[in-house]
Amino acid sequence: MTITRRNFLKGVAGGGLLLATGVPPARARVSTELPPQAVGLLYDATLCIGCKSCMVNCKVHNSVPGGALYKKGMKSPPYESKGLQGSDGIWDAPRELSGKTLNIIKAYRNGTAEKKDTAINGYAFFKQQCLHCISPACVSVCPAGAFRKDPENGSVYYLADRCIGCRYCQLACPFGVPRYEWDSAWPEVRKCQLCRHRYAEGKYSACAEFCPTGATIFGKVTDLREEAKRRLMLKPGTLYDFPVQTVTSRERTRREIAAYVDGVYGLNEVGGTQNLMLSGVSFELLGFSRNIPRFDLPSLTWAYIAKILWILGGVFVGGTAIHAVTHRKEKGA
Ligand code: SF4
Ligand code: SF4
Ligand code: SF4
Repeated sequence: MTITRRNFLKGVAGGGLLLATGVPPARARVSTELPPQAVGLLYDATLCIGCKSCMVNCKVHNSVPGGALYKKGMKSPPYESKGLQGSDGIWDAPRELSGKTLNIIKAYRNGTAEKKDTAINGYAFFKQQCLHCISPACVSVCPAGAFRKDPENGSVYYLADRCIGCRYCQLACPFGVPRYEWDSAWPEVRKCQLCRHRYAEGKYSACAEFCPTGATIFGKVTDLREEAKRRLMLKPGTLYDFPVQTVTSRERTRREIAAYVDGVYGLNEVGGTQNLMLSGVSFELLGFSRNIPRFDLPSLTWAYIAKILWILGGVFVGGTAIHAVTHRKEKGA
C-alpha cells in the first residue's frame, strides 16, 4: 500500500494507528551492515581552502534556494532573509545548517589564527552535513517511514509525502543534522541526500564534483576508507598525489601530507558512517564529539519502540494535531 501524507493523516484522524498502514518496521529498514555498493564522501580538512564552492553547488544541484542573510546586530540563527529589507545585509551567508543550507563550511580559529590546521594560534576549515550513518537513528525512529536508507548505495533519504512533521528524526540524529523548514507553509525536513538523484545520469555528489582542491571526494566507501588510512600512514611532509573529485579519479594534485590527528572520523562513530573526515585539528575542537557511542544507535531503540507502539500512536495523533494547528496558524499569518 502506498502512503501519502494525505492518507496517512486521514488514517490517524480515523483512530487507526498509522503503524498498521504498511510502514516497514524499523528493524527491516535499518541494517548494521555496509550496503554492497555503499558510496560516500571523504572530506580532508587539510586540503580545504574554505572557498564554499561545495555549498554553492549543493544549492544549485539540489534546487535549494539561497536566502540566509547575515545582518549586523542579528543574534540567533537561522538568519533567513524573510522580512528583511535594505542593503546592509550579506546575501546568503548562512551560519548553520538549515532548510536552505544542506552542507556548510565553518572555520575554527584560535589566538592569532596564523597557521592553517593548527590548534594553537591557528585556524582550520570544517564541513558539516549528514554523515549517512550505516545504521541511521533517523530512519529507525521515523514512525511514518519517511526516512529511508537505500539498500544498495546506502544513502539516507527523505520522502516528503510520508512525513507527518513529528520531527523525531531531528531528536534522534546524534549529529544534529536534519532541519525543519519553519518558514514554509507546508514544511519538510531537509538534509543532504548524497545527491542520489544524480546517480542515474552517471553523476555524483555536486560538492565533490565542484571542489577545486580534492578536499571533498566521492567514491565507494571501501575505497574512501583505504584512501583515508593511506594518508594517515604517511609521514607529514611526504609528497602525495591527492585525487580530485572522486577517489579513483586520474586527476591528481600533488601536495604534502599534513599532520593528521585523531584518526578517521566516521570509521567507528555510531557503528560507522559513509561520509568520513580527516583533520589536522582535533575533531573535538571542530565540534565533532568523540564521546558518542561506537555502536549503532538503532539497536538501543528497537526493543523500546516495539514495546511502546501504542504510546507512539498517541504521540502521532498529538503531533499531527500540533502540525495541523501550526499549519493553520501559518496559513492565517
Ligand atoms: S547523520 Fe543524522 S540525519 Fe544523517 S543518517 Fe545519521 S542519523 Fe540520519
Ligand atoms: S552530497 Fe549533494 S546534497 Fe549532500 S552536501 Fe554534497 S552537494 Fe549537498
Ligand atoms: S569546495 Fe572544497 S575547498 Fe572549497 S570549501 Fe568546499 S570542501 Fe573546501
